[in-house]
Amino acid sequence: MSQTVRGVISRKKGDPVELVDIIIPDPGPNDVVVKVTACGVCHTDLTYREGGINDEYPFLLGHEAAGTVETVGSAVTAVAPGDFVVLNWRAVCGQCRACKRGRPQYCFDTFNASVPMTLTDGTALTPALGIGAFADKTLVHEGQCTKVDPDADPAVAGLLGCG
Ligand SMILES: [Zn+2]
Ligand SMILES: [Zn+2]
Repeated sequence: MSQTVRGVISRKKGDPVELVDIIIPDPGPNDVVVKVTACGVCHTDLTYREGGINDEYPFLLGHEAAGTVETVGSAVTAVAPGDFVVLNWRAVCGQCRACKRGRPQYCFDTFNASVPMTLTDGTALTPALGIGAFADKTLVHEGQCTKVDPDADPAVAGLLGCG
């Protein structure tokens, strides 16, 4: 079932960001709903707001986060509900030329959630770096989740997702 949570969006170039209700859809087969515990504030989020990345407003900001897996799609095998994870913006394919050469940082085919998060009027959101974690919960591809020690401080662990 889809759910309504709060998220911080950038609606228009340069305008102040807004805290609004957003809809998290049911996860697709390989998608995961993550309850965000902590999310750093990074200059890249400001760059999104300023139109420095692309023009695909509205953006759901936030991309260096840690949280707990809440629900998983029917085909997810990498994580399970309750796992503590860091979100990463490069979910690499493992199959392409770059991945096979041991250079996944240049992967040609990275993954994100298969269904969009939206505003309450149905407008699709563009999650910053495919994450969008200035929100109570976010939707990502299972490959974007990296399990970490649950004793790690979420505010520190989340920074790894960006750095
Ligand atoms: Zn690849
Ligand atoms: Zn960042």
